[in-house]
Amino acid sequence: MSPVPMKLRPGELKERRIKLELGLRCEICGDEFPHTILETHFIEGAPSPDCASAEDLEAHILVLCPFCHWDIHSLRVREVEQRSILLFRPKEVRKRIRRILGERVRSISIPEKDLEETVRDAFPPHWGWGT
Ligand SMILES: [Zn+2]
Ligand SMILES: [Zn+2]
Repeated sequence: MSPVPMKLRPGELKERRIKLELGLRCEICGDEFPHTILETHFIEGAPSPDCASAEDLEAHILVLCPFCHWDIHSLRVREVEQRSILLFRPKEVRKRIRRILGERVRSISIPEKDLEETVRDAFPPHWGWGT
C-alpha cells in the first residue's frame, strides 16, 4: 500500500507547535492540558492571521484551557489585562513563537503511520483557531 499523504492547514500545525512551546500549559491558570484541549484566544484588536506580521500576531495570541478561555470571554476581561498575561511569557518562548508564526508553510505531508494521530489532531473536539 502506498503512503497516503495527508495535508494539514498551516494554521493548525502552527497552533499545535505554539501550544508545545508554551509547555502545553494554560497561560492563565498554568495547568497542563493535551494540545487538543487547549484553545487559542485572540486578544481584541488582533490582526488577521493571513496578513499580520509575526510580531503583531504573537502579541495577540493566548493559549488557554477551555475554562480560562470561557472566563476571559464571559467576564469580559479588559484588553489591557489580557495583554498583561503576555508579560509572563518568557522572551525566548516569544521569539520561538514569532518564528513559527513567521514561517511561510503552505501545507505538509504526513506519513501514513501518523495518519490516525494526524486526523485526531486536525479535528479536535474543541477546534477553534482564534476565537
Ligand atoms: Zn486555565
Ligand atoms: Zn477567545
